[in-house]
Amino acid sequence: MSAFDLQKKLVSGDLKVTEAANLFLSQHEQVDSKVNAFVELEKEKVLKQAQALDELSAEQRQSKKLFGVPVAIKDNICVEGTETNCASKILKGFTAPYDATVISKLKEAGAILYGRTNMDEFAMGSSTETSSIKKTANPWDLERIPGGSSGGAAASVASGQVPLSIGSDTGGSIRQPAALCGVVGFKPTYGRVSRYGLIAFASSLDQIGPFARDVKDAALLLDVLAGADPKDSTCSEEAVPNYLEAIDKDLSGLTAGIPEEYFIEGIDPEVEAKVKEAIAQLEKQGVKIEKVSLPHTKYAVSTYYIVATAEASSNLARYDGVRYGIRSAEAKNLNDLYFQTRTQGFGDEVKRRIMLGTYVLSAGYYDAYYLKALKVRTLMKQDFDNAFKKVDFIVTPTSPTPAFKMGEKVDNPLSMYLSDIFTISANLAGLPGVSIPCGLTQENLPVGLQLIGKPFGEETLLQVGHQFQQATDHHKQSPLL
Ligand code: GLN
Repeated sequence: MSAFDLQKKLVSGDLKVTEAANLFLSQHEQVDSKVNAFVELEKEKVLKQAQALDELSAEQRQSKKLFGVPVAIKDNICVEGTETNCASKILKGFTAPYDATVISKLKEAGAILYGRTNMDEFAMGSSTETSSIKKTANPWDLERIPGGSSGGAAASVASGQVPLSIGSDTGGSIRQPAALCGVVGFKPTYGRVSRYGLIAFASSLDQIGPFARDVKDAALLLDVLAGADPKDSTCSEEAVPNYLEAIDKDLSGLTAGIPEEYFIEGIDPEVEAKVKEAIAQLEKQGVKIEKVSLPHTKYAVSTYYIVATAEASSNLARYDGVRYGIRSAEAKNLNDLYFQTRTQGFGDEVKRRIMLGTYVLSAGYYDAYYLKALKVRTLMKQDFDNAFKKVDFIVTPTSPTPAFKMGEKVDNPLSMYLSDIFTISANLAGLPGVSIPCGLTQENLPVGLQLIGKPFGEETLLQVGHQFQQATDHHKQSPLL
């Protein structure tokens, strides 16, 4: 059942929240020993919330957009009184002192906060393999990765354990795992959703967004998450439209841009074929197709790995053994405390990023790398501005390949970084993007279609995605666990 239908049933009282919660918990018990989407899920906590919701009056239920619907939370979003680790050893034992704004909004909407999902350490990765806690499997093939960094969030929805989850996307961490797990993942425009209480990776790129089985459910959740927040000065005051109303319009009159730079050598032929079929389907539904060019795309990965690591090196300076999480017991003096704590607490990928970021910001290299990357970032944004003069949205593959095998890329950072080649540009330009299932490969692995929109063009993406799903059934496929 979709979150949308579930909410209706719960509001009407046809189904009790406790009954629904127990069904989800039993699915969790059956499948999560194989999938490992969750790093923490306490049955008692879930049932306590469900019981409290069951006690609300009919009138109180009506106003709650996610009444009784379980939503899983990525381990980098703060929930007051709950341990939040970013899947890092360095944050072991850290309990969040306050709720992230999105968490307050979920509570207000009557959602059940349903456990913490696994991720790459500090959201750095594309396979969830850099988690210090556990490895998450792709529900479609347990020997493969679920994508990352929000791999647990994507896998929790794909394996039927929750109808909805939230993740964060800095360079593709919502869209890429959504593509590889065959669910919908939506990264909103930078500033559409508050980042207050999201543990920062790269502050000019990070956005929180929804995972769902279908686009309508993603619209429902985005509706709750979006909106101005005085606690995040980068959060926009732009009014939030009614996303659920937007999705019902047909597609005639819309123009899609196909960027030639996204159909490159190295892309898996089955991925390319499925995406092209999806484009033909959109055309059948009345969308005009136009070629566009985003000439600076070839610099996306290098630009991202300068900007993101530079910001990460500053953001992660706060984990020094003094204020959060673990503290090395062997340290002899203050300097040694920093050194030992960071040596013991951070994993290899995080260390690599801190070193890269420190390097590109250091005197003598700043102009050559960081400043230059910022200039290229502007050029990339201009490419999109130009394209959006002719088209309403852009269509690309989400990931160049379907899910790869565990261990395949973990020792080869460059090959791992290339998994984000199609998702990174939207973050650098601050644009909304969504990944939608568009078919299965011969090996039964999901392929994702990416739609990129104008700033605050969420409505168009949801409309196109929903109409596509009305005409196709790719999103109705589920893995045989
Ligand atoms: N995979 C990309 C990275 O490793 C993106 C991660 C993300 O969006 N958080 O940085």
